[in-house]
Amino acid sequence: MQPMNQPNQPTPYLGVLHRYGHLLDLPAHTRPVTLLEGDTRLIPVPRLAEELGGDFELYVKFEGLNPTGSFKDRGMTAAVSEALGRGAKAVICASTGNTAASAAAYAARSGLKAVVLIPQGKVAAGKLAGAVAYGAQVVQIEGSFDDALAMVVEISNKHPIALVNSINPYRIEGQKTAAFEICDTLGSAPDWLCLPVGNAGNITAYWAGFRQYERLHGTGLPHILGVQAAGSAPLVLGHPVEHPETVATAIRIGKPARGEQALQAAEESGGRIIAVSDEEILAMQKRLAGEGIWVEPASAAGLAGLAHEIAAGIFKPQGKRIVAVCTGHGLKDPDIITRAMPLPEALPPRLEVLEEVILG
Ligand SMILES: *Cc1c(COP(=O)(O)O)cnc(C)c1O
Repeated sequence: MQPMNQPNQPTPYLGVLHRYGHLLDLPAHTRPVTLLEGDTRLIPVPRLAEELGGDFELYVKFEGLNPTGSFKDRGMTAAVSEALGRGAKAVICASTGNTAASAAAYAARSGLKAVVLIPQGKVAAGKLAGAVAYGAQVVQIEGSFDDALAMVVEISNKHPIALVNSINPYRIEGQKTAAFEICDTLGSAPDWLCLPVGNAGNITAYWAGFRQYERLHGTGLPHILGVQAAGSAPLVLGHPVEHPETVATAIRIGKPARGEQALQAAEESGGRIIAVSDEEILAMQKRLAGEGIWVEPASAAGLAGLAHEIAAGIFKPQGKRIVAVCTGHGLKDPDIITRAMPLPEALPPRLEVLEEVILG
């Protein structure tokens, strides 16, 4: 028994591999590299639910709370742990930004070299800065994300460099843990899960995770609403998009590597994949910030899709329990806010001037 005057010693949280590793299909040679990712909050947003027009339970799974500010860390701990155990000396990825920052951080943690390829001029400042801060070699490609991805696939086939994009199966294994956490927190799967879809690794991982938990614990299955940006919606259009365009840079992907699996997840779950405009995405980013949750534009797409369907009368949320995945932190892409922001007015340091300005 603990002496009365000792504080409780909570079980230490040691990251997603420690907590859920027994449920992940990782090779025996895996050598855990962790930054204590995962265990992110599921934040209730009842006021937002009411504004969206319904009497339903709405939660935000705020993945921006991961160590490098996005859900990519869940998959990266698995992929880098496997690469390290296999004896790789370097990891490589193509990235719209968050994968780069995450790969760079976990490579740094493990002592591996990281190389990241980014499409020219299309990466948010906070993400690029992250990759550089963590010490990655950053290479800009005069081309799209899809071009960069094709190149890293080829080079990793040719050299002993581990590919850590989400076509790496261990990324998906690690990312399943978000679905496990939601079930563990709520006691069951939600009725609906909505999330942004870019390269489609995350929707694939969530569906795999929910199905695994349903088999193990009978936690049920959610319907999945996957949301793309209208200017970058290959899964809605049914064909690749040559020049994808959207403010939501994390989902500016014209040829999703796991597109087939995404469509399958949506269909099997009785859900769907839809597209929303950049205006809807930015409006939802603002509404979420009004709840104290600042996410990057792509992260607001899932909820923007839900709002779109409710407003159009397609989706009746009444009585449902809905989880919206907000994939990355707003700090990743401050430009989108500061660009439109007037510089705060400079005032003389006098109380009456301040009173005049803030009290009117
Ligand atoms: C990577 C990313 C996405 C898209 O996830 P996919 O697995 O590529 O579909 C969405 N939002 C953010 C913030 C991301 O970093």
